Amino acid sequence: MPDKEGRITEEERSKALAWLNEKAGIGVCSMCGTKNWILADTMPNPPTYTSAGTRIGGITVPMVGIFCAKCGHLVFFSAIVMGLIPAEQTLKEQKPSEEPKTSDVPQGVSNG
Ligand SMILES: [Zn+2]
Repeated sequence: MPDKEGRITEEERSKALAWLNEKAGIGVCSMCGTKNWILADTMPNPPTYTSAGTRIGGITVPMVGIFCAKCGHLVFFSAIVMGLIPAEQTLKEQKPSEEPKTSDVPQGVSNG
């Protein structure tokens, strides 16, 4: 479990690196062709798109990211599949005090 600042622990870092080396077979960056990856210090957990808007909280997909040291290309992996976060933890029902917040930001892409 990442600390209160969201940083992954040394144990998680070691476990993630071992998993990446064993299971993912990280190769060269698909953007620039170099092979110099850096493990991100935090575990992103993006909001979920729902019919009611963007939901913050609730069922989530925590991720572990690696980025290319040369071009910054980011690649994400499921922290659940990696065994860093128990799946049941991401499926917890929320208590009333933890109601999901929805964003009123319009969805979609704007080209200006
Ligand atoms: Zn790259």
